[in-house]
Amino acid sequence: MSKDLISLVVIGHHQHGKSTTIGHLLHETGAVSQGELSKHEREAVELGRPASKFALIVDAINVERERGMTVDLKLWKLSTDKNEFTVIDTPGSRDYIKNTMTGISQADSALLVVDATPSAFEAGISREGQTRDLLTAAFTLSIKQIIVAVNKMDGVGYSEERYQEIRSQLSAHLKKVGFKSKYVTFVPISGFIGDNLVERSDNMPWYTNSTLLEALDGISRPKRLIDKPLRIPLQDVYKIGGIGTVPVGRVETGTLRPGMTVQFAPSGIKAEVVSCEVHHETSLEVGPGLNVGFNVKGVSTKDIARGEVASNADDNPAFAVSSFEAQIVVMNHRGKIEIGYAPVIDIHTAHVACRFAEIKAKIDRKTGKIVEKNPRAIYNGEAAICVLEPSRPLCCEACSEFPPLGRFVVRDSRTTVAVGMIISTTKKDSNHI
Ligand code: GDP
Repeated sequence: MSKDLISLVVIGHHQHGKSTTIGHLLHETGAVSQGELSKHEREAVELGRPASKFALIVDAINVERERGMTVDLKLWKLSTDKNEFTVIDTPGSRDYIKNTMTGISQADSALLVVDATPSAFEAGISREGQTRDLLTAAFTLSIKQIIVAVNKMDGVGYSEERYQEIRSQLSAHLKKVGFKSKYVTFVPISGFIGDNLVERSDNMPWYTNSTLLEALDGISRPKRLIDKPLRIPLQDVYKIGGIGTVPVGRVETGTLRPGMTVQFAPSGIKAEVVSCEVHHETSLEVGPGLNVGFNVKGVSTKDIARGEVASNADDNPAFAVSSFEAQIVVMNHRGKIEIGYAPVIDIHTAHVACRFAEIKAKIDRKTGKIVEKNPRAIYNGEAAICVLEPSRPLCCEACSEFPPLGRFVVRDSRTTVAVGMIISTTKKDSNHI
């Protein structure tokens, strides 16, 4: 049986144990060998940080990522019985919030890691902490399933009382943001010692529910994206000697096959697919969740670039939009958002300045009900329905149809000022392209 491919973003306050937990899980599930772990253990001792051996596993992978060695290595895999996760994680990054918001915009589900030790948890969830914004962004960007790992239980004497205290505070907060309790799972763990990661811990006999791995196995893929028309946002376009032009990207929906005529958007260029390759092996059919490189006939690397979307020319092909209507939540804006404001938005692999052309209504963030029509401006913490116009040709889609192509983050002065979800798009008049 093939596994469900699910993308998971790991979120949480700095130093709460994201890298340690993920590194340990990767080791326990066999993705990292004992030899590699021993190497990281020696490195950790040399660095004078013996406790960081698991975090170093993740750091090592991130170094490879930053060098951009291959597309496949940018994200890594964690397997459970039923699921295969692509883990989107940006620990230790200088631009943590910026990268995490982008990660959230690409994820199906989230793992929130919180530090249970005295005052650390309280700092993470405080107004100044990062956890609140990340959860609001996750909910707005249509992540519904969330696992909360209450970490460093070894640091609080494996206290059930402390766990329950954190659980009840966070449950109330998650509910306030809009998450439904049936989609939220709490697991008390020690990412460092390994309690309740894969094996149930003897240190917490009072806890009898899922381990972290079981909780991950319980996540279900939200929709059958394979039944939808093909969409592949391009990450890069290579020219490979002896082969030709090879666009690469992750298949988000539908299936790519050799012989198919693909249409790129917004450029409108069409080309025949000669061959497809996944993990360096030829493939005759590539479905959602896989990173693919495909060779196309008659197209130069100058014609198409990162940010274009490949689709099947014969089945509901992708197109350039003149504008799109979106629901946005303002997260971190120094002033206010008004008509005419033109920040940069990051959507799938595209990066384009867009102008706020209309602010149709202010809405209740949780229920979506209109609270004010045609407001003059929107401020931090507020949600609104807006119309945006891209300054350069852009292909994007309604979130309900193609979720990975319909979620975006709004950036200004290197901060994420808002996140959004596209409700509908208006096709650009082809005469004007
Ligand atoms: P990140 O910034 O969220 O990725 O956090 P790290 O994984 O780098 O961990 C931050 C610090 O917390 C490191 O010194 C870890 O060794 C420590 N740490 C992580 N998990 C645990 C745990 O379960 N118990 C204890 N006692 N320390 C931990």
